Amino acid sequence: MEYTNDKKFAQTQDLNDPLQKYRKEFIFPSYTEQPVIYFTGNSLGLQPKSIKKAINNELEDWGKWGVEGHFYAKKPWVNYHEILTEKAATVVGAKPKEVVITHSLTTNLHLLMVSFYQPKGKRVKILCEKKAFPSDQYALQSQAKLHGFKPEEVIVEVGPRENEHIIREEDIISKINELGDELAVVMIGGVNYYTGQVFDMKSITKAGHKVGAKVGFDLAHAAGNVKLELNKWNVDFAAWCSYKYLNSSPGGVSGLYINEQHVEDKDLLRLAGWWGHNKEERFLMADTFEPIPTAEAWQLSNAPVLGMAAHNASLEIFDEVGMDAIFEKRDKLTGYLEFIINDISNRYDNVNFEIITPKDKTKRGAQLSILAHGKGKELFDFITK
Ligand SMILES: *Cc1c(COP(=O)(O)O)cnc(C)c1O
Repeated sequence: MEYTNDKKFAQTQDLNDPLQKYRKEFIFPSYTEQPVIYFTGNSLGLQPKSIKKAINNELEDWGKWGVEGHFYAKKPWVNYHEILTEKAATVVGAKPKEVVITHSLTTNLHLLMVSFYQPKGKRVKILCEKKAFPSDQYALQSQAKLHGFKPEEVIVEVGPRENEHIIREEDIISKINELGDELAVVMIGGVNYYTGQVFDMKSITKAGHKVGAKVGFDLAHAAGNVKLELNKWNVDFAAWCSYKYLNSSPGGVSGLYINEQHVEDKDLLRLAGWWGHNKEERFLMADTFEPIPTAEAWQLSNAPVLGMAAHNASLEIFDEVGMDAIFEKRDKLTGYLEFIINDISNRYDNVNFEIITPKDKTKRGAQLSILAHGKGKELFDFITK
């Protein structure tokens, strides 16, 4: 696409945008004099207008039915999570039985690590990206301690080479091969939160499996942002949050994926709760746990319906628009921003913006990370204002 850096061009693109009508389906912050231009969907997505009604419906049903709402609400709460499963599975390229919407992201990472990090003999190492999101680092460190290790004994990090920002995929693959039969689990972000780099999840999974390791991804910055085919890539496990690119309310519910070859494994270690137990017998209050043969077995508790209602309303928009249409618009918009940043940087001597996110469209999503070379604070304050 040929871009030009002027307002007329941008307005024409907006006019011809097949997704243009969706802009008014979202609420933009209104605390400033000028309408806000929102660049922070990677941290908290905007509120879809449809969420208010969705939550209100549940409040009304709670008022009308009290506890009976579990069975008589318009969307009975007892199986509420089921109405989100298929839509969420589509977003991450999984089969419905591999996905459940439940808990929060870091909680799910822990639950998944309990099942998939089971160090034995030599096979004790965890491979992750250097400077992973802090919550992921804390989660992995505490998982190491849970098994009686010092974190530095078992956690191996791959980072960018000196004077580079992006982690070379060949370096990840060769680290996997080097660790070989000492490697228990690969757990990295599908999209690096700092650089916006999209990892080749398919190749990493293949390489991990080749040395006998399990492979999982934190998809916080990937779900709703980049194309995911978790089932096809044979990824063992993954988790993501719904409040970033998926616009589903602050601290909103998380998604959890477990490959189909593991969901029926009754012997797989997991932390269990009553909502993971055989649905037919849940209210018989049996004293032995019988896992549902789907990702639902990882659910501990009954669903937080208000948060789930928000997520469901947002997923309905994704379902209606389709991921491919979103990706097409993503690439145009991101490409245009990249063009303008480079144009400004070339045109003015007093600015030097360096985009560290890969140029290759298959290696990035909607994020561009910019080094402002000494002018970061100034730029940040200016944009915020
Ligand atoms: C946003 C984010 C989190 C946040 O975790 P919560 O449990 O939802 O608070 C964790 N990991 C990554 C990679 C993130 O981007």
